[in-house]
Amino acid sequence: MNAIYFCPNCGGAAVDTPLLAGGQASCRSCGWKGAATELVAAPMPEDVQLKPEAFIREFTSDFKIMFAKECAAPVMRLLVKWGFMPAMAEREHMKTLLARYLRAVAIASVQALFDERAKIENEGREKRTDAS
Ligand SMILES: [Zn+2]
Repeated sequence: MNAIYFCPNCGGAAVDTPLLAGGQASCRSCGWKGAATELVAAPMPEDVQLKPEAFIREFTSDFKIMFAKECAAPVMRLLVKWGFMPAMAEREHMKTLLARYLRAVAIASVQALFDERAKIENEGREKRTDAS
């Protein structure tokens, strides 16, 4: 089955996976090395034709655009209210800060979505195994 693999240390997708199961895998982002079985796998739907890294890039980009478009205003109000952003700062400074926060939240959210999807897929697989 097609799957996207993530580093168990930093959560990044820039991992080198061995062709043979049981080999050594490594992460180009944080330098992690370990057994391929330690990688976090997120199954991909059969009809997705993008390569894993392209899939993650496109999905992340799509998410960032949606998030900034739909949520920038309420997120900014929340961040100002809770002291993450100064309320009286210059407009340009506010924009820069907000962009950084939105980007960080989008990236973490995408990772959380992939993680949760992997859990859901695993639960489905366990149920099917139990039934047989
Ligand atoms: Zn890593």
